[in-house]
Amino acid sequence: MNSTPPIGTMTTPANNNPLHAIAAAIRSRQRFVISSHSGPDGDAIGSSLAMAYALRALGKEAHVVFADPAPGPLQAFPGVPDIEVASEVTGDYDAAIIMECGDLPRTGIQGFERYFVINIDHHPGNTNYGALNWFDPSAAACGEMIFDLVRVLNAPLTVDVATHIYLAILTDTGGFHYSHITAKTFEICRETMEAGVDPVLTARNVYDSNNMGRLKLFGAVLSAMQIDGTGRIAIVYLDHEMARAAGGTYEDTEGLINLPLTVKEIQAVVFFKQTAGEEYRVSMRSKGDIDIGVVAKEFGGGGHKNAAGCAATGAIDALQKLFIEKIEQAIDARPADHR
Ligand code: 5GP
Ligand code: MN
Repeated sequence: MNSTPPIGTMTTPANNNPLHAIAAAIRSRQRFVISSHSGPDGDAIGSSLAMAYALRALGKEAHVVFADPAPGPLQAFPGVPDIEVASEVTGDYDAAIIMECGDLPRTGIQGFERYFVINIDHHPGNTNYGALNWFDPSAAACGEMIFDLVRVLNAPLTVDVATHIYLAILTDTGGFHYSHITAKTFEICRETMEAGVDPVLTARNVYDSNNMGRLKLFGAVLSAMQIDGTGRIAIVYLDHEMARAAGGTYEDTEGLINLPLTVKEIQAVVFFKQTAGEEYRVSMRSKGDIDIGVVAKEFGGGGHKNAAGCAATGAIDALQKLFIEKIEQAIDARPADHR
C-alpha cells in the first residue's frame, strides 16, 4: 500500500478503535441486515453468516441478503438456505453490515445507503462509505475480522459461527496457499476447531462437491489455455458458447484460475470471462511478491497482491496483449531476491 488511509479507518491489533466503535454500535442496535459483494465467495458468505449467527446468539435479528445465490458447493453450509437473493433492500433495519465490499455498488443491491452502514473489509481500495469503517488489509480473510468482532461482542463461538469463520479463511487463503496468512490465521482456525469445526468435512464440502459440468468446463478452458512469450503467464478464456458446449456454467469456474499456478514456471494467470459482446470480467492471480493488484487497479479494478480483478471492454486479442504487457511488468518489478 502506498497511500495512507484516512485517520481512524485503519486498524491494527494495537489500535483497534474501529472494532470497539463497531461493537458499541452493534450492542445499541437490534435489527441488522448483512450483505457482501455480488457473486459471493466463501469469505463473503462465511463472514456474513458468522456475523448473523453471532448476532442471533446475542438476541438480535439478522437478515442476510446477497445479489446472487451462493455457489453450489457452498449450499451445504448451515445458514445458506436462509440467505435472501434480492436486488433491493427495503426492510426496517437499525444498521447494515457490509462485508468485504470496496464500495456499496459492488453489493449489487440498492438501498443500503438508507441505513446506518458498518463497513468491514480487508481489500486495499475500500472507499470508506460507511458510518463506521473498519479496514484491515493484513487480515487473510474478512472472516478473521469477524472472529475478532465476535470476541469483542462477547458472543459465543458456536459451531455455526465457527464453521462460517473457518469457511471464510479456508476459501480466502485458497486452502492456506496465499500471502497474508499469519500465525493468527492458524490461532483462529485452532479456536474454530475447538468450537466444533470439522476441517475434513468442511474441505470436502468446499472442494469435493462439484458437478460433472464443472469438470468438463475446466477441461475445455484448460485445453484452450495460452502461455505468454516468456513462459510465465497463463492466459485462460471463457465465453458463453464454450460453457454451453461443455455443459457447465460461469459459476462452475470458481477456483479454475488457480490451476495454472500449480505449474512451477507459471508466475501469474489472467482469466477473461466474456460477459456480453466485447465486455469481459478479468480475474488475475499471481505467486509470491508479484503484485497483480497494481495491474487490476490500472484497469479500474482492485483486489489483493495475489488475487485481483477488473472489468475490460475491447477486442479480446488486443486486451490479452495489453494485460500480458502489464503483468510482465509486474513480474519484473518484484524484488530480485524472490525470483
Ligand atoms: P476474483 O478474481 O475472484 O473475481 O477477484 C479476486 C479479488 O479481486 C477479490 O478480492 C475481489 O474483491 C477483487 N476484485 C475483483 N474484481 C474487482 C473489481 O472490479 N474491482 C475491485 N475493486 N476489486 C475487484
Ligand atoms: Mn475476502
